[in-house]
Amino acid sequence: MDSFEYQANPSRVIFGSGTIARIPAELERLGLSKPLILSTPQQTSQAEDIKKILNGKVAALFGEATMHTPVSITEKASGVALDSGADSIISIGGGSTIGLGKAISFRTGLYHLTIPTTYAGSEVTPILGETQDGRKSTTSDPKILPGTVIYDVDLTMTLPASLSTTSGINAIAHAVEALYARNGNPIISLLAQEGVKALAEALPVIKENPSSKEARSRALYGAWLCGTCLGSVGMSLHHKLCHTLGGSFNLPHAETHTIVLPHALAYNAPSVPQAMAALATALPESDGDAIQGLNRLLQKLEVVRDLQSFGMKEENVAQATEIAVSNPYWNPRAIEPSSIQELIRRAWAGEEAK
Ligand code: NAD
Repeated sequence: MDSFEYQANPSRVIFGSGTIARIPAELERLGLSKPLILSTPQQTSQAEDIKKILNGKVAALFGEATMHTPVSITEKASGVALDSGADSIISIGGGSTIGLGKAISFRTGLYHLTIPTTYAGSEVTPILGETQDGRKSTTSDPKILPGTVIYDVDLTMTLPASLSTTSGINAIAHAVEALYARNGNPIISLLAQEGVKALAEALPVIKENPSSKEARSRALYGAWLCGTCLGSVGMSLHHKLCHTLGGSFNLPHAETHTIVLPHALAYNAPSVPQAMAALATALPESDGDAIQGLNRLLQKLEVVRDLQSFGMKEENVAQATEIAVSNPYWNPRAIEPSSIQELIRRAWAGEEAK
């Protein structure tokens, strides 16, 4: 067996149905009593529900979390935390709200309890992406990792089917790249395969029946495992492309991951036979071919397969290539600019992955 290093990220995880009722007990065991509750404007009612569970004992509610974690919003929310005498932060929502919680916690040292309601996985990573003056920067620090994660499947039931499917593929992408990460290890590979399997089984059921609690539970469990992969090992070409496309052309996060994944996987496939075999085992209907398994899953989910549908222009393809190849992440296959440009063009046009 090859030698490896493995570093676990220390978060406390509570998983189940109705688990938000555990918030008061969790705060009590930490000796905390005045949380600032964060949400997006779309999820303020869930923030209000937490206030009720805590019998109104909160420092304040801040409902302005938004995409890409702008520093201006973080500064405003940090001001609210300070003025209200908050002793902790509770974020409820997807990666955008969790990002705001991380940004405040990193700046102020306040304890961060998070309640994820999508499958993006940010809750179990020590990574923070922020934007200022149109530029995105990423910081990785153990202090960014939220201390407690409460997964409550009930809160994911309202995630629209279309966002559930793309958010689930976003999670699968973390596991895919973990399978061929430079610092990969057997533990993370196990989590990756189990995470892909759970999501690949659950997402088609959610698409047909978004109120299936069993499928929602499987998807949330898979998302936790895939997020753990993202938080533990380095990501490669696929994540670099998605960060470039999302950050520079304002393309939506989960949808971009969904479109790019088969293309990035096809590019890396010749260099990572073991990862491809492991992935094929985890994907139903793959017949031993991971790309076929992924394509069949995406067909079943009827997701959008081209970047032009989200407003990207053909002339942006060359620009995106330049940004993506100028400062690439480590990748198992050498980065060949002309092939990357063709990859992005195919993703833009919605052509088959090759
Ligand atoms: P999001 O947080 O932007 O949420 C999208 C929309 O869905 C929002 O309006 C939100 O309020 C709504 N929503 C979320 N959960 C819902 C629910 N259960 N019911 C109804 N509506 C709901 O989307 P996301 O894909 O979760 O997160 C994307 C962001 O997270 C990106 O900025 C990305 O960079 C970041 N991210 C960071 C990491 C990390 O490790 N740092 C990991 C993954 C994603």
